[in-house]
Amino acid sequence: MFRKLHTRLIISHTLPILILLPAIAIVLIYLLGSRRTIGDLADQLAGQGTLITEIAPSDTWKNPTEAAQVIDQVKSNITSRIMLLDSTGHLLASSLDTDKDRIGQLIDFATVRQAVIGQTNWLVDYSPFMRTRVLDMATPLLDQNNTVLGIVRLSYDVTAIEQRTIPLTWLIGLTFVIGMALALLLGLGLARSLNAPLMHLTQAVSVLTPGTYVQDLPENGPYEVKTVARSYNSMAHRLHELELTRQQLIANIVHELGTPLGAIKAAVEALHNGAVSDQTLAGELALGMNCQIDQIGLLIDDLALLGESEIKPISLDREWCNLEDLIQVECHTYAYLVKQKRISLAYNIKADLPLILADKRRLTQILANLVHNAYKYSPPGSSITVSGDMLRELNETSSHVIIEVADTGPGISPEEQEKIFDLLYRSPRERNLHKGMGIGLAVSKRLAECHGGSLTVNSVFGQGSTFRLSLPLS
Ligand code: ADP
Repeated sequence: MFRKLHTRLIISHTLPILILLPAIAIVLIYLLGSRRTIGDLADQLAGQGTLITEIAPSDTWKNPTEAAQVIDQVKSNITSRIMLLDSTGHLLASSLDTDKDRIGQLIDFATVRQAVIGQTNWLVDYSPFMRTRVLDMATPLLDQNNTVLGIVRLSYDVTAIEQRTIPLTWLIGLTFVIGMALALLLGLGLARSLNAPLMHLTQAVSVLTPGTYVQDLPENGPYEVKTVARSYNSMAHRLHELELTRQQLIANIVHELGTPLGAIKAAVEALHNGAVSDQTLAGELALGMNCQIDQIGLLIDDLALLGESEIKPISLDREWCNLEDLIQVECHTYAYLVKQKRISLAYNIKADLPLILADKRRLTQILANLVHNAYKYSPPGSSITVSGDMLRELNETSSHVIIEVADTGPGISPEEQEKIFDLLYRSPRERNLHKGMGIGLAVSKRLAECHGGSLTVNSVFGQGSTFRLSLPLS
């Protein structure tokens, strides 16, 4: 019931009026209107009735002539019709000439019937004899034994009093109708102002598909609706960006896998076409293939980590690692490639470098990314140096092992030095010259932080870059 916001709003606006206004009207009519005046009047009539019973001689209640005389005495002071009846309710005398024919007849009226059994009573009803609405009141005269001796009946024309409350009733009725109409209009207006943006939102959400350009929802209306529209807009933009990222990532993967696979295929074909008989050439081709496979391996490792870290925190498989060994192995892996590009690669490791508790595979991944970048971005004739050292602090617990990969390549501009660690960021300058995915540094930084360490860069544009991996000893 009332499932629609629209209906609920209208009801919430009209309900108070539906409940409150009639209640206020009843109270107002009672306080200002006829009910109260008539109540007061009935008390007044009761007093007059009692007064008449007191001044009337005892014969009055048996003798119509006596009764008529009593009426003559009091009628000039009393504006109501006065009737005197005997103890059984038969009319003895009336102040109205039109009642003359009814003398001696039984007055069969509710108030009189009550008076016959000894009770004073009043009611408002239509009197066919007075041809108007009257307040009818009958007071019995009782002796010591509560036996009814006679009855005074007073009938007061209340038309004027009742008519006085009619304008008030109309006024209240009119206020009610206008109030209801205003509440309905207000409820409808508010419901529409809420409904329209919500419908827009529903429509926008139903057509929201990744990749399609989304138009911003207008951010207007009440605060809550504005907030929902704003959240929708930012969600739609994020979705759009994510979709673009996804597409870019797929394109990069295809490109990054295609190149080494092409090189491997060319080497295999060369071997197949006879190069296998030339031992030196075959050895060179095998080394080349191995390097390309390493590149693919590194790419797969980076991608796997990226996918994994989106779902759950990166878990480390720690063991005691000899950094000297790790650096040496990595430099040997690149020896062939750097030689091909006429780049010199050297390492410089401090003699007493301690063992470090870390995930060997992940450290190799970081190192491979850094050396690979240095090799990739440095032009022929440059040099790369990988060094390992200790950074001892006064407090032994905060000592660090520092691995630096320095190159004399193109360097990185200061404004780009922060951005290069963002996922998918590639320098626009390098983008055209070198292939890449833009994930290597982002993944390496995450891995360094997982180890409780950091990865930073220090670079002078045009002179070279030094990437610094810092790992805590403890
Ligand atoms: P990719 O190398 O696949 O583009 P990375 O995350 O490894 O992705 O590097 C991000 C960007 O940082 C590169 O596009 C490049 O502009 C810059 N960069 C990284 N290493 C070097 C370096 N040794 N010399 C100069 N620029 C570098």
